[in-house]
Amino acid sequence: MVAEALPAPERAPGPVERWSVRPGEVGARVSGHEVSLIRPVAGEEDWERVCAALASQPVFRGPSLDGRLPVESERVFVVVGLPLVPPGWGPLAASCSCAQWRSVCGHLGAVVEELGVRADADPFVLVRWAGSDRSEFVARVGAAAARQDGREGPDAPHRPRTGGADPASAAVFWSVPDLPALPEGLAEAGARVRASAPGPLLDGLPVFDRRT
Ligand SMILES: [Zn+2]
Repeated sequence: MVAEALPAPERAPGPVERWSVRPGEVGARVSGHEVSLIRPVAGEEDWERVCAALASQPVFRGPSLDGRLPVESERVFVVVGLPLVPPGWGPLAASCSCAQWRSVCGHLGAVVEELGVRADADPFVLVRWAGSDRSEFVARVGAAAARQDGREGPDAPHRPRTGGADPASAAVFWSVPDLPALPEGLAEAGARVRASAPGPLLDGLPVFDRRT
């Protein structure tokens, strides 16, 4: 999936070292060169939309709530405009410390290959790259599922949504849980990546670490 979306003419020999995936950036060292693959980070509304879409599909709701992402679910991500695998190199800012500027170098090719292998083993690698993580994703799908069930339930219009109800009542138990707070800095980092893409981004990257 990753290799098809991001074609690279070659792959540099040698191991991929110092692998890291964080919101917006995949980084690694290949044959002594520092490689960085930067993508726009999805905003909170994007995640809400895709998680609501997954929760609304019975075939995806169960696996999503279990923290799994079937390959077919990528179609849902694409439909709501948040592809887990960027459609080609266009939306990405790719950089390598080698001298080959005019095309995709073998070091980038090696990182794309590694990303594909890791995403096959755990697609949440791609979720993290796009700005979320497994537990946050599961919580969002759970909240969306609870909202949808509440709306569709036979007594939904009379069900109390917020305070005032007996905390032990079924209505409160089944009501919408609060969404977990976003990791600090995520939304801002996403906005910065979006604002600066697709130009040279390395100078802007320390924003991910700056907030201490
Ligand atoms: Zn290179």
